[in-house]
Amino acid sequence: MPKRSQRTSKVRRVMVRTPGGRVSCHIEDKKPNRHRCAWCGEILQGIVREKLSSAPKSAKRIARIFGGYLCHRCLERSLKLSVFSEWKII
Ligand SMILES: [Zn+2]
Repeated sequence: MPKRSQRTSKVRRVMVRTPGGRVSCHIEDKKPNRHRCAWCGEILQGIVREKLSSAPKSAKRIARIFGGYLCHRCLERSLKLSVFSEWKII
């Protein structure tokens, strides 16, 4: 019988084959939801889905401005809006 804290639907059960050939059930934390764009809600690409503690250290991050917050289309739109408002076109 698993521990009381593991008897919940908030954990993920993963079947793992051990080196001895036995199959055992490992209980892990669920993956967090995918990051979404703050404007349009589209799923952002290139963002590590795991928690930072369990994410691989070599995982690349998005280095551009508003990377991980806005998608590329919304970033383009916001940059255009800022330039056009500076020029007083709109
Ligand atoms: Zn967007």
